Amino acid sequence: MGETIAIMNQKGGCGKTTTTVNLATSLAILGKSVLVIDMDPQGNATTSFGINKIEAENTIYSVLTRKVTAQKTIRNTFIQNLFIIPSNISLSGAGVELSREENYHNILKKSLKNIVDIFDYILIDLPPSLGVLTVNAIVASDSVLIPIQAEYYALEGVADLINTIKLVENRLKSPTPIKGILLTLFDKRTLLSKEVQKELKKFFENKEHIFKTIIPRNIKLAEAPSHGKPCIIYDPESTGSRAYFNLAKEILEKDGD
Ligand code: ADP
Ligand code: MG
Repeated sequence: MGETIAIMNQKGGCGKTTTTVNLATSLAILGKSVLVIDMDPQGNATTSFGINKIEAENTIYSVLTRKVTAQKTIRNTFIQNLFIIPSNISLSGAGVELSREENYHNILKKSLKNIVDIFDYILIDLPPSLGVLTVNAIVASDSVLIPIQAEYYALEGVADLINTIKLVENRLKSPTPIKGILLTLFDKRTLLSKEVQKELKKFFENKEHIFKTIIPRNIKLAEAPSHGKPCIIYDPESTGSRAYFNLAKEILEKDGD
């Protein structure tokens, strides 16, 4: 059975898209069949695979508004085993549109029903908000991966994030455990990064929830999207790529693979 993981944090710039794209690519290279669902109107995950988001006709918006089935929107990427449902600005009004529907929380889950078992992993990249799209992703996912930037105020908002997950779990009877907390943009030279790491450990007393793998701040990770390639392909030997590859291995190990 496939596993669906939502990559979420309502904070912008904490590495959600970078994590989605590079974790997905690593899992694909390790032989898993992976689908990325871009659920951010900014479409950054889409462009990270060199896909022109403006020209993308069938997007996650078309799926959520039931214009086409999810199957029809799945596209190949240039990477073997790796597929994507793209997104673009058309998604920006979807939250309001969908919230008028009675069971709006369930729309994504229902849309994915026929495809979840085609893939080993489905990774959902989310926008920086706790709105309708995020709630849909929580309901549709088996677990949540939370990237946290090693920065001041990084933990601000994490309580809200966890409350939202709990709320959805309780109201909709849809258990969505935290797969893991991922420390990103870590700079081992700074005291600040280490302090955030300490705070994180304090905040999440259940240490299991924090991934052993830490993602360093690495310029290659920031450069890769402008080349239309995940960093894993653009510069596989970079410290950033190696970290995401290790994260993929850590997840496979955790999943008993
Ligand atoms: P989000 O999707 O949470 O908004 P992104 O993944 O888009 O965050 O990252 C925000 C910016 O930081 C992007 O320009 C990205 O290329 C860059 N970035 C992300 N992770 C790293 C990292 N570990 N090292 C260097 N730059 C990074
Ligand atoms: Mg993003």
